[in-house]
This record gives sequence, C-alpha cells and structure tokens, in this order.
Amino acid sequence: MGENIIPLADLRYAAAVPRVPDQGYAPGGLLADRLGRPLRDLRISVTDRCNFRCSYCMPKDVFDKDYKFLPHSSLLSFEEITRVARLFIAHGVVKLRLTGGEPLLRRHVEGLIAQLAALRTPQGDPLDITLTTNGSLLERKAQALADAGLKRVTVSLDALDDAIFRRMNDVDFPVADVLRGIDAALKAGLAPIKINMVVKRGTNDHEIVPLARHVRGHYGPGVVLRFIEYMDVGATNGWCMDEVLPSAQVVERLSAAFPLQPLEASAPGETAQRWRYADGGGEIGVISSVTQAFCGDCNRARLSTEGKLFLCLFASRGHDLRELLRGHQPDGAPWTDAQIAAAIGLIWSERDDRYSQLRGAQLASSDDGRRRVEMHYIGG
Ligand code: SAM
Ligand code: SF4
Ligand code: SF4
Repeated sequence: MGENIIPLADLRYAAAVPRVPDQGYAPGGLLADRLGRPLRDLRISVTDRCNFRCSYCMPKDVFDKDYKFLPHSSLLSFEEITRVARLFIAHGVVKLRLTGGEPLLRRHVEGLIAQLAALRTPQGDPLDITLTTNGSLLERKAQALADAGLKRVTVSLDALDDAIFRRMNDVDFPVADVLRGIDAALKAGLAPIKINMVVKRGTNDHEIVPLARHVRGHYGPGVVLRFIEYMDVGATNGWCMDEVLPSAQVVERLSAAFPLQPLEASAPGETAQRWRYADGGGEIGVISSVTQAFCGDCNRARLSTEGKLFLCLFASRGHDLRELLRGHQPDGAPWTDAQIAAAIGLIWSERDDRYSQLRGAQLASSDDGRRRVEMHYIGG
C-alpha cells in the first residue's frame, strides 16, 4: 500500500495509511527507532470529550457548544483497542496509560480496563496499567476501576484554592469533589497515586507550596505530587514562554519551604526528575518538558481516540491504524495481526521525533505550516 493521505469526513489531523511491509518487522522485543529508542509505553486516548475546559488544553472559546467532537462510530471499540495494545505489547510495550479527553467519560471504561488487564507481556507478566483523570468522576468510579484491574491513577489538580481551581477548569468545578475522588482512589487501593499540577506563571504558581503542604500533610508518602511545565502543545492555547515557570524555580520555591534531595530516575524514559523531602515526608517530581528536553530516551507512543498513532506529543501527522483494523487487503481479506504488527514495527523503526530537544536548540519552528495535534485528542 502507498503512503496515501486519506480525506476522511471526520479527519482531524493528517494521517497516512500505514505501509504493510512484505517481510521483516515481526515483533521480537528488539524494536528500536532511528535514534535507538525502544517502544515501551503506549498512551491510549479513549475519548476526545471532557467536562472541563482547562484553558491550556481545551479553551472554551474554541471548544464551545458548536465544536464537533468525534462521532461514536469513529472511536476505536474496546476490542479494537485491546487488539492494538496486544500488538504493541508484542513489540515491547510494558506500560499502558488510558487518557483523553477525560477517560472516565467513556461509557463503561472499566470494561476496557478488564480486557487490558488480561493481557500479558511475552514473558508472561501483567502490564503496568494506569489512567490519567481530572478526578471529577473518580469518587463514583474508583472502586469499579480497581475491581476491573486498574493498578493506579494519576489525578490532575492545578490548585488547592477553590476559586483558582474553578477558574482553571473554567466550568466552575469545585476542588472538594476532586479531593474526595483522590480519597476514594486511595481507599480502593489505586496507589501510589500521582497528582499532576500544570504550573502557569501568574495563574497558579503561588499554589505550589500550599498544594505540596497539603499532599505531604494529608496523604504522606503514598501520594506523589508532580509539577509540569506548561507546554506549547496544540495550537489553541495561546502558549507563550512568559507563562512557563521553569521547574528549577519550582524546586527552588519548594526547597525554601521543605528541604529537598535529588533522587535517581527509577526507570529509563521516565519523564519526571524526582526529589525527596529531606525530612522523609515523601517525594515530588518535576516534568521539565520545556526547559530540559527528555527526548533522548522517549519510549512513548500515543494512540488517538480514532486509532491514529502519533509518535510524539508535538506531531502534526499520525498513522491511521484504524484503516488497517477495519480495512481490507487488495484481495479483500482483512489485515492479519502479523501484518498490522509489522506495519507498527516499520512505523516505529522510522521514528526520529525529538521535538522538545529541537525546540531547545531553536531548530523547531511551531509555525512550520502544519497544525499540531491537540492534547485532548491524543492525551498527555
Ligand atoms: N482529562 C485528563 C486529565 O486532565 O488528567 C486526562 C487528559 S489530559 C490532556 C492529560 C494531562 O495533560 C493532564 O495532566 C493535563 O494537565 C496535561 N496537560 C494538558 N495540556 C497541557 C499543557 N498545555 N501543558 C502541560 N500539560 C498539559
Ligand atoms: Fe479536560 Fe484534562 Fe484537558 Fe483539562 S487537561 S481540559 S481535564 S482533557
Ligand atoms: Fe517524546 Fe516528542 Fe516529548 Fe520528545 S517531544 S519527549 S520525542 S513526546
């Protein structure tokens, strides 16, 4: 098959139909991209919808009542997602993260988790399955998620102060409900819980120390707070560097309140730099996607809600796996698992994305004429 760009009615982002190689690229655990990076982490977006309108992700003026979200028929079914996940696992993926949009809005998402939890690595090990959520539905859903086989969750929480939190989610959602969601997740055993705070200078940076104090005091070492630099993902959030608070300054501010000591990375490809409180009060992480690129060992692939594979958070073009899942070979037969796995292998082998690194070196231009993919569409 050629590298056609297919004009689908619901096309959001250009996506090539993957080429299915005649031979080679069978899963064998040795897959590496052009920069020698293995494939270990698959992030799966299960919906492009969200009940929040965080201005850095889905600004209200763009994602308003007239915005056309994907129709249900476009979404990968749970069976299709599980099939793709199985093929990625054969290629070396050991970690699955469900995201969105807001993943808990996808009806019966625990059914998908149950299917994914039954998968095993070629060595027979269970997968590390996690989910990133805004926490709004967590109080209601935590137990069902744990029962289905989810091991842990990451909850996004940008402020402890109710007024600031309501302003940031831009739908007037109260912080107390998210805090109750975190309690419910702990009770259901979805631990260790990570809490992600996107820091926007001038908007919520004065919440850094209060949130850290709350997490330390209220939960202790079982909950890890991580501070994320506000990133220039997508094209709708009006990003500017002035609103980025470099992680180094986050660490500085925190250290003034609670002395910190650096920790070693616990796994290759880990996005966060870890620190621990000198008094034993647990650890924090900083994710410096803007000021300190970590493309060198980026082992993450992202699957959009409608089955397009993106090799970088900042990509403007995907690979339309759904075409292989639902389409047919020239002789009319469906594509086999082996063929789709080979196509995935070829795509990964040709990967050379390293946007953050190039951005740092001033080589990447954010206005190269292509529209970058939005965060709510491929997830974090
Ligand atoms: N709705 C869920 C949530 O908010 O956790 C999952 C999807 S959300 C796109 C995943 C993560 O991306 C969240 O932690 C969110 O804060 C983060 N995020 C979204 N836009 C961002 C941006 N411009 N810079 C940094 N992080 C961002
Ligand atoms: Fe929704 Fe998450 Fe994006 Fe906020 S960051 S708008 S909660 S998808
Ligand atoms: Fe990975 Fe792209 Fe982020 Fe670099 S910019 S760490 S390649 S997702």
